Amino acid sequence: MSGPDHLSRYAICNLHVNACPPYGRLHWVTVTERVRHTGQVTLEDLIQRLRDFAAARDWEPYHTPKNLVMALSGEVGELTSLFQWLTPDEAKAWRDDPALEANVLDEIADVTLYLVRLADVLGLDLFAAANAKIDRNELRFPALER
Ligand SMILES: [Mg+2]
Repeated sequence: MSGPDHLSRYAICNLHVNACPPYGRLHWVTVTERVRHTGQVTLEDLIQRLRDFAAARDWEPYHTPKNLVMALSGEVGELTSLFQWLTPDEAKAWRDDPALEANVLDEIADVTLYLVRLADVLGLDLFAAANAKIDRNELRFPALER
């Protein structure tokens, strides 16, 4: 490949010089390929991967704020259902049940992905919004004097 044909393609050697023998040669990869190769993922990577995922399937028209917030709510419901009938002690020990652990990780991922995609479609900086909210909560609920 001679160069990027899409905005989501990156020169992996700029990030991980040993990634592409012979060393020093640029190797153009998608963000998905780079994440898989390096094992490192950022919020920006998730945003781009979700954009690419939707674009590759022509799903962008369906990713409206209304649809995404409804999908997010559904995934929160799926996560909730995993804990719904557990006792408090059973819920705390969720990792002791491999099937429950796998399901919790799966639903947490779904919730995260829909939240990230919703924030992206809304044009919001998810981390900036969360950070600003913690700032407001610190003022609203002062720390205990110790
Ligand atoms: Mg789910």
